[in-house]
Amino acid sequence: MKTDFEIAHEAHMEPIVSIAEQLGIPTEHLEPYGKYITKVPYTLIDEEKVKRSNLILVTAMTPTKAGAGKTTVSVGLALGMQRIGKKAILALREPSLGPCFGMKGGAAGGGYAQVLPMEKINLHFTGDFHAITSANNMIAALLDNYIYQHRDEGFGMREILWKRVLDVNDRNLRGVVTGLGGATDGITQKTGFDITPASEIMAIFCLATSEEDLRRRIDNILLGITLEGEPFTVKDMNAGGAIVALLHDAIHPNLVQTTENTPAFIHGGPFANIAHGCNSVLATKLAMTLGDYCITEAGFGADLGAEKFFDIKCRKARLQPKLTVMVVSAQTLKMHGGVDIKNIKEPNMEGLKRGFANMDKHVENMRKFGQNVVICYNYFASDTKEEIEMVREHCREIGVGCAVNTAFTDGGKGAEELAQLVVDTIEKAPSSPLALMYGDEDSIENKITKVAKKIYGADGIILKPAAKRQLERIKALGYDKFPVCIAKTQYSFSEDAKAYGMPKNFSITIRDLVINAGAEMIVAIAGTIMRMPGLPKHPQAEKIDVVNGIIEGLS
Ligand code: ADP
Ligand code: MG
Repeated sequence: MKTDFEIAHEAHMEPIVSIAEQLGIPTEHLEPYGKYITKVPYTLIDEEKVKRSNLILVTAMTPTKAGAGKTTVSVGLALGMQRIGKKAILALREPSLGPCFGMKGGAAGGGYAQVLPMEKINLHFTGDFHAITSANNMIAALLDNYIYQHRDEGFGMREILWKRVLDVNDRNLRGVVTGLGGATDGITQKTGFDITPASEIMAIFCLATSEEDLRRRIDNILLGITLEGEPFTVKDMNAGGAIVALLHDAIHPNLVQTTENTPAFIHGGPFANIAHGCNSVLATKLAMTLGDYCITEAGFGADLGAEKFFDIKCRKARLQPKLTVMVVSAQTLKMHGGVDIKNIKEPNMEGLKRGFANMDKHVENMRKFGQNVVICYNYFASDTKEEIEMVREHCREIGVGCAVNTAFTDGGKGAEELAQLVVDTIEKAPSSPLALMYGDEDSIENKITKVAKKIYGADGIILKPAAKRQLERIKALGYDKFPVCIAKTQYSFSEDAKAYGMPKNFSITIRDLVINAGAEMIVAIAGTIMRMPGLPKHPQAEKIDVVNGIIEGLS
């Protein structure tokens, strides 16, 4: 089979203005970035149309290091929907340079189910990530300067809660000391960097419902606690306007197309392990305004991305998804059934069968939210007929629809079965209104406990002293109505990345709580998860090159 790169370059792309025209967007509204990418103003969102559209969430069982194939399936499903005559639009996250150059590689789908132009989407795209990084770091610079300039008046911070960010996996920046040097070189302090997809600006960007809402949220960001014990916010520095100016263009969703010219919005990109894992509310609502179906992906396994999609994004944006598509693969099932990664491509019916425990728990979890679920079997070339049949049979036993998707090798025609199943299920048995895992009025501790018990299957939670101290502060400052965003490893229901399958008899240890007063959520850090990833021994970067003027290695 051809490489992703070859397929992407052989695909026929339509000018993006024609794709927009087919959606009924007049050309004068567009802000094109070259021939194949355009910004579309979010002000075209029509809430009445949003209500009538069908929102489909694509999620997965607990993934392997290579990913489960959610983006590839999401794109494939959009192609399949087009082939059966339905108007479906994708809403996906923008890839981060961290995984692109690190462990995973690109995030624009794969094979004959990609979004294009894949190099641009995977690299700098329309500059949104740079704008978000700049906005975050501008706040850091303004804060340090504020402290420096006002120190003679007795102003100082007891605690600074704001960090810098960079969209690179750089372990050396996890802990740094700034302000070394002479008297005019700033005040020395120990601080650190997070990766851009974990930043509060990214979360705000993805949850804001308008530019005014963006401004309100940015003003509310809690930067630290003053020497007098008072909260200190962006508004106190009078900097909200400047930060919104930096995001003024970025806030509009980006429109691109798939390998079969179906429309796709790609906008915002928080990770689902260390952040809330969903593309922007604005992109989702714009896709829902313009299409009868909106297909969106939430990151990593359903314990992370899907839980946060429902409990944070849908709660806040009042979205009601009609269906959840759960991506599974034979290899992922075998891994959860204890098969060694070296033998994962070989048939192993017993291993596969044991892996159902992981899949079933995710299905059961989605049903707790009131979601109707269908399984998408993501077909890999090494899979056998017996493996496929075993998954189909198991799905029949647990009463859940199942379709085999071969869009990676066959494009849209390989996703027709899935598309038809999705359309029929939404027609005959749409999901119930969302049943969220906790109420706004639950305490922060109870919110985390409810997710840990009901979704992860944990016995309970343990709060470390730093987290306990933060709880007091959260209550005192009145932030306890916010939802919680649990930062946890993506490789297990538990906080132990090696506990595959469906682990039992474990607790979740909350090391710290981070107040995101602008994003209006509390980030709970579980186990040893890091908000600045590192690079592996042989990063994907070793494969990326420019050959004859063309960028290779971004698959
Ligand atoms: P996720 O969105 O779940 O992280 P992706 O769709 O990005 O997963 O897929 C992860 C990797 O696996 C990508 O490199 C993609 O090209 C590849 N992949 C996905 N589905 C298939 C398939 N059916 N056959 C072969 N490779 C696949
Ligand atoms: Mg993905």
